[in-house]
Amino acid sequence: MAKFCPHCGATIEDDAVLCVSCGRQVAAVAAPGAAGSSGAGKAMSIVGLVLGIVALVFCWFPYFSMWPAIPGLILSIIGKKKLAEVGAPTGAAMAGLILSIIALAVSIIVLIACLACASSLSGWESYSSW
Ligand SMILES: [Zn+2]
Repeated sequence: MAKFCPHCGATIEDDAVLCVSCGRQVAAVAAPGAAGSSGAGKAMSIVGLVLGIVALVFCWFPYFSMWPAIPGLILSIIGKKKLAEVGAPTGAAMAGLILSIIALAVSIIVLIACLACASSLSGWESYSSW
């Protein structure tokens, strides 16, 4: 019975270690030795994804959203790396990474906009020089 490559979907041999189509590791998906590493990567990716979502929800409050976005970004990167090492799907990690980057970018834009807005208000001129 043939199985499919988790990366490209090509048909591969049951006992294949590398995919003949894309050349990526496929054996680790079923290998029990890699389960722990995959589990840690998966957990990190999910936490990273959740933090990314939280950061995105709160991105209009830059002082709050930056705190979940930074660890979300780091966990997503580490989780993605761990999942890629064992050949597991990195979809959740990738989504977490993208969401964290967007949240961080929006936070910075909102923060700059807020500072620009605050400094343009009367009475704030004296504080805008820093
Ligand atoms: Zn493949």
